[in-house]
Amino acid sequence: MPAGSGSTSRSHAAQRREPDAAFVLDVRSLGRRPGTMKELRRTAVAADRLGLEMIALPEGAEVELDLRLQAVSEGVLVTGTVTAPTAGECSRCLEPFTDSQELYLTELFAYPDSATEQTTEDDEVYRLVDDTVDLEPVIIDQLGLELPLQPLCTPDCAGLCPECGVRMAIAGSDHGHEILDPRWAGLAKFAPESSGSAGPDTGAAEPDHQ
Ligand SMILES: [Zn+2]
Ligand SMILES: [Zn+2]
Repeated sequence: MPAGSGSTSRSHAAQRREPDAAFVLDVRSLGRRPGTMKELRRTAVAADRLGLEMIALPEGAEVELDLRLQAVSEGVLVTGTVTAPTAGECSRCLEPFTDSQELYLTELFAYPDSATEQTTEDDEVYRLVDDTVDLEPVIIDQLGLELPLQPLCTPDCAGLCPECGVRMAIAGSDHGHEILDPRWAGLAKFAPESSGSAGPDTGAAEPDHQ
């Protein structure tokens, strides 16, 4: 398909990348001398929402990158931290909340034509494409591992009242319900027949007295 270099036709390579856009880092200045290193501190803006259904790094979030890019014999090793704000919905009380997530990266991006590139699949080891590394798939993977499947607004969120569904945090600790004695609840079924006034929940037809 690609008419150009013809070296790779992988899906990632086929897309044109804009260096320095969001999570794509230009590593050209590293050269290919193993041991060359570059520190990178930057704020990147997430173009998409990244994460899980209940909690994610929101679209437009400012993500702090504090990374070390190091040329090694097989590629570029990226290590460091990524700190991102997150927005979620509490799995207990269903309220929206915000938090932040720190990710620790240690990821090799293999050079094209390196032994690593030739002996691994591109879903096993990331590739360097046009002298850029794209951190987005790395961040997506890490978020999948680090973000909670059942996020909580606070670690001790009291959730919702099981009786009426009010959020316990606003209802107060004295919130409660009088529980009807189950024996009375049983008797209530027969009540419409004996008294003249039918209850609201008598679905069946009333017996016909002749
Ligand atoms: Zn909550
Ligand atoms: Zn209640």
